Amino acid sequence: MATGNTFDVVVIGAGPGGYTAAIRAGQLGLKVACMDAWRNEQGGPAPGGTCTNIGCIPSKALLHTSEHYENARRHFADHGIRIESVAIDVEKMLARKRAVVRQNNEGILYLFRKNHVTFFNGQARFEGRDAGAYRIGVSGTDTVVSASQVVVATGSVARPLPGVAFDEQRVLSNDGALAIPQVPRRLGVIGAGVVGLELGSVWRRLGAEVTMLEVLPAFLPAADEQIAREALKQFTRQGLKIQLGVNIEGVDVSGDAIKVRYQDAGKAGGSLECDKLIVSIGRLPNTEGLNGQAIGLKLDERGFVEVDAGCRTNAPGVWAIGDVVRGPMLAHKAEEEAVAVAETIAGQHGHVDLDTIPWVIYTAPEIAWVGKTEQQLKASGQAYRAGTFPFMANGRARAMGDTAGLAKVLADGETDRVLGVHIVGPLASELISEAVLAMSFQASSEDIARIVHAHPTLSEATREAALAVDGRALNF
Ligand code: FAD
Repeated sequence: MATGNTFDVVVIGAGPGGYTAAIRAGQLGLKVACMDAWRNEQGGPAPGGTCTNIGCIPSKALLHTSEHYENARRHFADHGIRIESVAIDVEKMLARKRAVVRQNNEGILYLFRKNHVTFFNGQARFEGRDAGAYRIGVSGTDTVVSASQVVVATGSVARPLPGVAFDEQRVLSNDGALAIPQVPRRLGVIGAGVVGLELGSVWRRLGAEVTMLEVLPAFLPAADEQIAREALKQFTRQGLKIQLGVNIEGVDVSGDAIKVRYQDAGKAGGSLECDKLIVSIGRLPNTEGLNGQAIGLKLDERGFVEVDAGCRTNAPGVWAIGDVVRGPMLAHKAEEEAVAVAETIAGQHGHVDLDTIPWVIYTAPEIAWVGKTEQQLKASGQAYRAGTFPFMANGRARAMGDTAGLAKVLADGETDRVLGVHIVGPLASELISEAVLAMSFQASSEDIARIVHAHPTLSEATREAALAVDGRALNF
């Protein structure tokens, strides 16, 4: 029985993985403590991790503002709305973003109180294990708590370019890229992945000339090739300059000037001069300061905490979830693992299906997918049928004036079971939920095609793509 500073469960980290694990464990009647080191500018607690503070939430706030701005400048006139002059107040935009972040921080603290989670705002450190209970210290205090069950949810940090440290003034990680005080004239982005595309889009819409350098020869290789081709076409049309197959040779920073030296795909030398440089080349698991050695916590060769399919580490009673373990670095993946682990600790059955985790890129058009890509199906020799439907033929998209992109359904060639759904187009982030639901229930493309979809909605494009699997789209 837990008493005083003894808890049933201690959760280390209050990102989407950690705070969700703590809340769910609290709901299940366990005595829970959650520790998180993040502080806001005033020195107060800022639970929510990367996602809330410098990731999902602030990036979506800026994407939304910049999309409004671009619509006002370029697209409202198509609707007959005349605006004489439009200006962006970057300071106000950033203040709004900070307010959105703060609301989310406060929301998590409220949920902790509601679910009787004891929160410690400090760095947690394993001190050892006595009689089956782990001792965990909290930095800046003499608090030591103990628990037999510990959930490690310490997340990830931005990966720097070798030899080029983030100074967050000129060379920016996602943190600095979400807080540039003025629209830069020339913005360089190294890495055309999800984070680079989203943040590059924000500043391009606000007026920066954005050049993205990507080492891989293919654009968004994790996405379906047809979808990636369409997205690249749209982004290029909008003015994002994306160079693929580029090898970075060095970055020279002197005063306010940044010069990126590289070799392009044709092996010719080139350079990019810019005023700010975002480096978005992936993220590294974060175990710094955790002192996992004190309990013999095993990491894999890439520094991730090693876990089995149920998120158990090698240390008995210690679990790890989210970005600090294998699998996609996505907030909703962390949350699913959190619920599964909390329920398993409480004696229930927890399970996460990594095959039905949706991926989303919140550009315009948005990109979202779940399941296998067409190139994966081809490579595996699996028989499949594909159906596609363009948003140009969707009544709602036309009414919105947002017709770029398509929906694509891939189904098993024999059983018709849905194997993958890929969307590039308006609100793809919302549309993908139907596909996740369908795949989770092992639906066939015919199931999606036979379900009534309201008219006129964007979701009709998904239904039409499902109909197209059988060659019977109605509106194209
Ligand atoms: P984190 O959110 O990284 O949280 C870990 C927490 O643990 C942090 O608060 C950290 O301070 C704390 N911590 C670490 N060590 C200790 C310690 N020893 N003691 C106490 N506290 C500690 N994902 C999406 O699904 N959708 C998106 O739209 C999206 N957008 C993104 C945009 C950007 C710019 C970035 C960078 C990421 C984005 N992500 C998005 C990814 C998402 O942010 C992560 O997958 C998610 O935050 C992982 O959650 P987590 O709980 O594992 O870790």
